[in-house]
Order: sequence, then structure tokens, then C-alpha cells
Amino acid sequence: MPPLTLCWLRRDLRLSDSTALQEASQGPFVVGFIFDRCILDELEDLDDRRVTFIHRSLEEIRRGIESRGGQLWVGYGDPVEVIPRWAQQGGLTRVVAAHDDDPYALRRDAQVQARLKDAGVEWRSVKDHVLLERQEVLTQSGTPHKVFTPYQKAWLGRLTAADLAERTVHWPHLQAARSPDAPDRSLDSMGFRPGALWLEPGESGGQRRLADFLARVPKYHEARDLPALEATSGLSVHLRFGTLSIRQCVRALGIATPDQVQDLEPGPRKWLSELVWREFYHNILANFPHVVDGAFRREFDALEWPGLPEHFEAWKAGQTGYPIVDAAMRCLNQTGWMHNRLRMVAASFLTKDLLVSYRLGEAYFARQLLDFDLAQNNGGWQWTASTGTDAQPTYRIFNPILQSLKFDSEGAFIRRFCPELAELDPEAIHTPWQAPPMTLLAAGVRLGENYPYPIVDHAVQRAKALALLGSVSAQT
Ligand SMILES: Cc1cc2nc3c(=O)[nH]c(=O)nc-3n(C[C@H](O)[C@H](O)[C@H](O)COP(=O)(O)OP(=O)(O)OC[C@H]3O[C@@H](n4cnc5c(N)ncnc54)[C@H](O)[C@@H]3O)c2cc1C
Repeated sequence: MPPLTLCWLRRDLRLSDSTALQEASQGPFVVGFIFDRCILDELEDLDDRRVTFIHRSLEEIRRGIESRGGQLWVGYGDPVEVIPRWAQQGGLTRVVAAHDDDPYALRRDAQVQARLKDAGVEWRSVKDHVLLERQEVLTQSGTPHKVFTPYQKAWLGRLTAADLAERTVHWPHLQAARSPDAPDRSLDSMGFRPGALWLEPGESGGQRRLADFLARVPKYHEARDLPALEATSGLSVHLRFGTLSIRQCVRALGIATPDQVQDLEPGPRKWLSELVWREFYHNILANFPHVVDGAFRREFDALEWPGLPEHFEAWKAGQTGYPIVDAAMRCLNQTGWMHNRLRMVAASFLTKDLLVSYRLGEAYFARQLLDFDLAQNNGGWQWTASTGTDAQPTYRIFNPILQSLKFDSEGAFIRRFCPELAELDPEAIHTPWQAPPMTLLAAGVRLGENYPYPIVDHAVQRAKALALLGSVSAQT
């Protein structure tokens, strides 16, 4: 049988700087993607934005493959069944894919690999999604890092120019072999409707967003915490789906070799540090997979969160009476995105003010976020809930009023998502329940009618949270 490799795209939906494509294109190859029913059938929203993002990004890939004389193979089903069938019907001798360390994906890939082995087809997987993965960054005693700052130091020390180098694809090896399945898959045929996207999908969308952000990166360190500004990159979605390469992001900062990191200006340096947070949580998931079903700090598994279901509902709907929390949640519900500062504020409010389990919040974010990534979402939630990797010795509790005053001082972000508060001045908008009646009247705010009273008192709840979390520590 003449050799033919399938490059199976998953979290790397692009045609440039791709390790899997580089590896597959060493000889004759085709490119394929499977709409995985094991994932799709679990989605609750027919207009799920992630499916739309993937679908539209694939359209661009299809055009790119066809312009090079090939055909994109597209499947719909369980990859454990589809890939071996493709191997048989399409005459594949090898399948190449990029690592995916989500526990579901690891199980799936192990099954695919076993089935391919039985059929005499080679399986190869390669690192692509992060710069340093799995056991590449370890402590001096050879164990995985659990704390960010030493991880970052070790990460910087371990990085090499080869990790950053562009992966080139040998397109002349692309074959015109036809897809064993119908090459087109409409959203409709899979039971989905187009969801609204707030950003341009596809590799071209990622490239444009990166170029646009590079003009703003010098001010990143000063403005990144202000949700009313477009000061961050908004690239998390592209990094999640691999429509942009992590190597390209780092090279775009002018870093081709690790020694150049020390010369970075504060803005790019801070941004690089955020990319390392992404690598850190990837490392946590890969090395401590128990975080998927339980607390990173296992002693917190026994904790019973006493929060009320109606408080959880109010949080989800953006009806807590704390304007910054409500604006954040409504932004999430309307757009599928939330600013990092607000993710921390909203997650802290749910766990430390409402005393609702982080697992409920994590699941709600997982359903809503366009950039949902198990490693990052779980890491962010557990860090904020104090069940995770936070190195702070006392429990971190965000004060929603102070956060609002500090990071949305004029109330511009609140006004955008809580229009019923839009006429309040900056003194009143963060705490409408403390505003004089005349101020509320003049602004058309009727507490308890068109905007809720606070559902809890932060000072009271803070004390309860400290006692609750402290009870776990006291037992261990
Ligand atoms: C409770 C909670 C849940 C989160 N869930 C997710 C998630 O599901 N998917 C996701 O990609 N990020 C998640 N984050 C991290 C972070 O909020 C987003 O990555 C960030 O807001 C994306 O915006 P940006 O691309 O403009 O980031 P930028 O500020 O431009 O940062 C650049 C990139 O660095 C990475 N990054 C930035 N901040 C963090 C961080 N705190 N932790 C890990 N990586 C980071 C992202 O890949 C981001 O795109 C979560 C954070 C918290 C606190």
C-alpha cells in the first residue's frame, strides 16, 4: 500500500505553524476533522457559539486545502469509529495528531491508537498546543510544579529556541485523495444553528486580532485590568481552538530565543506572563487530572458549600444587586466572553459571598464561554475558590465594591450591561443601595423593582466564608 498520512486536526484549526501538519507532510498526506458526537451530543444550546466558531474556521481551512489541490476530509460521529474506518476506506498508513491532554481526549486517543494498531496503521501525536507540556517543566526534585511563580521561573529556564521555531508545512506532499465521507457538513445537518460571534473566527481572524493587539501591547500592563477598555488581546478563543499558534504569539513579541525575554518592555513582559499562566494550568491538568472531578487540594472535597439555589440563579442571571457582578454575568450571557478581572470577581462572589460550590460556577462558565478550556477554566475557578493552586496563605476574598471602584471607576462597563443603572453617577453606580433616594429617583432606578437590592451583605458573607474555609484547614 502506498504511504498516506492523515493529519487529524482538533485543537489546531489552522494551516500555518502547525506541528501536526509539519509532521504529517513529511510524505503524502491528507487533512481531516471530525465533528465529535461524544462532545456535540452533550451540548445544551443549539446555537452554541463554539460549534459555529469551529464550523466557520473549518470553512477557511477547506478553502486553503482546496486551493492547494486537496480535499478536506470531514467526519461526524465518534472518532474511535470514524478514524479506523477512514484508515480502511481511505488507505491510510499513518495518522498524526497534536496532543490533547483533556482526560476525555486522552481516553479517546488511546482507543483510536489501539484500533489503528490492530489494523497495522501507525499513530503519532506531537506537542503543539503549548510551548512546554506534561513533564517538561519539573521542580528540582523531579515533581510537577504546584505554584505559579517557581513554575514560571523554571519554564523560562527550560524554554529553547527550538520550542519557539516556526513549523513549516510541506504542501507539495498534499494529496487529492477524496474524503470517505461527504466532504460537507452543515450546522443544520448536525442539529445546530449559527450562534452569534463577537470576533472573527478562523486563522485569518486570529492573525488580524494578533496584529491589532501588537499595537496595544506596550500599554497592556497598565490597562489589562480595566474591563471597559479593549486592552487585552481577546486571543484566548484563537488559542483554545488553535486558529493561532502559541509559538507565533511569543515570536510576535520579538522573542526568537529565550535570552531575549529579559529585554522585554513591561507590556509585552506582562502579556508573556499571562501566556505562561495558560501553560501552568495546562501543566496542572496534565499532572493532576483529579482536578476534573475534585479539588486540587483534596482536603476541600469534603467541604459542603451551604449556598442557596436561588442565589446561584440570581448570580447566573446577573441579578445579585452588586452592579459589577451583574454586569459581568450579563456580558457572559450575551456575548460568551468575560474579562479576566471580572471572571475573578464573579467567581469570588459566587464562592465567597454566596458560598456556592465552585463546581457549579465552573460548569456554568463551561457552558457559556466561547474560549472555554477545561484546564484554564478549572484552574481559574479553583484558584479563586481557594481550593486550587493559589499560594496566598490566607484566603483571598475579592470585595466586589472595591473591585468595582478600582477597575471600573467611572462605571462605564456597568452602564454597558446594566442599562437600568446607566443614569447613575460614578459615586452611586457601584453601590446603588447606598445612594440617596433623590439620586435614584432622578436616575430612574427603583430598587427591588427594576434593579435588585443586594442579595447578601459582603461583610457578613466574608466572615462566613473565612469560617467555612478555615474549618477545612483546621481539620487537616
Ligand atoms: C474563573 C476563571 C475562569 C477562566 N476560564 C477560562 C477559560 O475557560 N478559557 C481560557 O482561555 N481562559 C480562562 N480564564 C483565564 C482568563 O480569564 C482568560 O484567558 C482571559 O480573560 C482571556 O482574555 P484575553 O485573551 O484577552 O487575555 P490576555 O490578557 O490577552 O492574555 C493572553 C492569553 O493569556 C492566557 N491567559 C490570560 N490570563 C490567564 C489566566 N488568568 N489564566 C490562564 N491563562 C490566561 C489566555 O490564553 C489569553 O488569551 C479563566 C479565568 C478565571 C479567573
